[in-house]
Amino acid sequence: MTNRAKRHMQRVAELGCVICDKCGLGNSPAEVHHAFDSAARSDFLTIPLCPTHHRGALGFHGLGEREFNRKYHTTEAELLAMTLERLA
Ligand SMILES: [Zn+2]
Ligand SMILES: [Zn+2]
Repeated sequence: MTNRAKRHMQRVAELGCVICDKCGLGNSPAEVHHAFDSAARSDFLTIPLCPTHHRGALGFHGLGEREFNRKYHTTEAELLAMTLERLA
């Protein structure tokens, strides 16, 4: 991984979980989720999610993309746009 990619993902993680933010749960420490992983995996297409909303039973990988999108009324594209807006 390039230093640039590492630096970008560090900045993304430091934003805090976008789902917690969207749900009014405040700023939760986040790890990095790769959006569009099967189609277009890139360290620069990453979204900050807390462990619960990332890998937990109520998270992206726990629910699967379709259920996750339905539950939180969102898409990876929307969450990526929110992430980029916060970084800008
Ligand atoms: Zn969260
Ligand atoms: Zn992930």
